[in-house]
Amino acid sequence: MSDNTRLPNLLGMDRQALKAFFSNIGEKPFRVDQVMRWLYRDQVTEFEQMTNLSKALRQKLSRCAVIEMPEVAFKEFSADGTRKWVLALDSGNRIETVFIPEGHRGTLCVSSQVGCALDCSFCSTGKQGFHRDLTAAEIIAQVWIATASFGIPENKGRRPITNIVMMGMGEPLLNFDAVTQAMSLMLDDLGYGISKRRLTLSTSGIVPAIDRLSEVLDVSLAISLHAPNNELRNELVPINRKYPLSELVAACDRFIKKYPDKRMITIEYVMLDGVNDHIKHAKELAALLDTLPCKINLIPFNPFPHAPYRRSSSNRTSRFQKILQDAGFVTTIRTTRGDDIDAACGQLVGLVEDRTSRSQAWQAVKFKSQTNEAQT
Ligand code: SAH
Ligand code: SF4
Repeated sequence: MSDNTRLPNLLGMDRQALKAFFSNIGEKPFRVDQVMRWLYRDQVTEFEQMTNLSKALRQKLSRCAVIEMPEVAFKEFSADGTRKWVLALDSGNRIETVFIPEGHRGTLCVSSQVGCALDCSFCSTGKQGFHRDLTAAEIIAQVWIATASFGIPENKGRRPITNIVMMGMGEPLLNFDAVTQAMSLMLDDLGYGISKRRLTLSTSGIVPAIDRLSEVLDVSLAISLHAPNNELRNELVPINRKYPLSELVAACDRFIKKYPDKRMITIEYVMLDGVNDHIKHAKELAALLDTLPCKINLIPFNPFPHAPYRRSSSNRTSRFQKILQDAGFVTTIRTTRGDDIDAACGQLVGLVEDRTSRSQAWQAVKFKSQTNEAQT
């Protein structure tokens, strides 16, 4: 990162913010389109190389703005196509981004905060505590870096990243402005042109922010539910004490009714052996979600050192799935990918963040990464 941090960073500014920026420096609105094309389609971050801008304008931009993004500290590309990046921010803060290919689909899992304050009992990000919010630039930079790793596509219809999920580190709805600004760039045709059905925000259930989200952006919503009753959810997802299940389900209902092309909410449910995976929990969940248009995604728990849980067996998971399917819910079991590089989505463990128990494991990953790079 340079010392120019006081100059506005054009990376991460959505169309509206860029319009305001160009108007402030006395330039016409069509400059917005030109700069967005350079930045996101052509992957150019030097004003000097933006050759359809006059030399005078390029010089002016170099004086009054910057295009800056975090550095890639480590990256690792797994044999199954999964790619993972660790980005270095200020003060030793680090975040992770993961790309997971599956058939014709390529999903990028993006972080929104360094750490997380919500401390869900099964989540390694929560165990790191909260460090800071990411800026819109740091959020969109994750998409920029992942996209650039595939080069510039020859054919616009064949983009490697087809889906983006805000399911990395952090609670996106507690970093509302930066997250929504970055997401509007993900949707924008001159940004990443991701369709609203393929752009998903995952939240542990910040009820007022779910309502606010529906006011400003039309995207898909995933809820990290993980328990069918308040008693258990208070334990697993402590924010439930503030926004209990009845309020959360009502907020989901309002969200779904907001747009005429009714979509389904995705309900995420991490399978914790003997904790939330009993038959009675499946039945309770079916009753809780009875009237909500939703599909349910059962997530195998990804263990981390000192985690107080085990992954449910595949038998228990299938049994749970069957009860929900019999009750009429589309219910899928998430396949875990990228296990070999610790990159399963929702399991961005931040190995580098933990300067104690996992540092040795991280050294191993780092070594492997260097070896892989040397081989390719
Ligand atoms: N804070 C947001 C988004 C990030 S977490 C949220 O909670 O929704 C992304 C998903 O990964 C959530 O569904 C979360 O519950 C899940 N997750 C967290 N830790 C996990 C673990 N150890 N194993 C499996 N899924 C986990
Ligand atoms: Fe935060 Fe989501 Fe992890 Fe809970 S599951 S601690 S909300 S990142």
